[in-house]
Amino acid sequence: MNEKTRVTVWNEYIHELENHAIAAIYPRGIHGAIAEFLGQEGDLEITTATLRQEEHGLTEDVLAQTDVLIWWGHRAHDDVQDAVVDRVYRRVLAGMGLIILHSAHFSKIFKKLMGTSCGLRWREVGEKERVWVIEQGHPIAHGLGHYFEIPQTEMYGERFDVPAPDTLVLISWYQGGEVFRSGCCYNRGRGKIFYFAPGHETYPIYYQKEVQQVIKNAVRWAQPTFSLGEALSGGAVPPLEPLG
Ligand code: ZN
Repeated sequence: MNEKTRVTVWNEYIHELENHAIAAIYPRGIHGAIAEFLGQEGDLEITTATLRQEEHGLTEDVLAQTDVLIWWGHRAHDDVQDAVVDRVYRRVLAGMGLIILHSAHFSKIFKKLMGTSCGLRWREVGEKERVWVIEQGHPIAHGLGHYFEIPQTEMYGERFDVPAPDTLVLISWYQGGEVFRSGCCYNRGRGKIFYFAPGHETYPIYYQKEVQQVIKNAVRWAQPTFSLGEALSGGAVPPLEPLG
């Protein structure tokens, strides 16, 4: 095990380059904002990667050095090469943690891991979101109260077409009346996956301290507790006890 948890923050990084209002909120990109607050944690080592880098910045080498991958995407899910998706998929099954943020619900990697459409209902009018913490003993709920509020958000509503989460930690209510499973934990192979809904690009959501707390908690929850280099040992085996 490494002393520090190695986190790679991946962002498609298109909105921030093409829209001045979004660039004003995230001058160093959404990945830059996330890397900045995670980088203040002494136990984490942060790097970033973006879509337009070679192999989207997710080479075999980079993934081999990644314990937890954070993924933000929206506009360009289809531009992510299948070979890179397969690479990330294999790494998750081997034990890498994966945190899927906001509109990355429609990313190739999340859909592949879930096996469902991952569709949802949505509305973008800047309404309030109240995020309810429904598993207060869960590591991802550490340091949160009963709920927290995001003043302006994009509404994501049910039905969210995902498998029932292994653990549902957060449920959001929106001013317009909908509810949404906004903090979902999954296990796939040896990897842990957390989907976290807040994070629409036109609001400064990743600067909010409760949102940052959830992401920091999720990184620590999702980090592998074993060496990712160890291959799973499968195949035929002799019995441990004499069978007579
Ligand atoms: Zn959005």
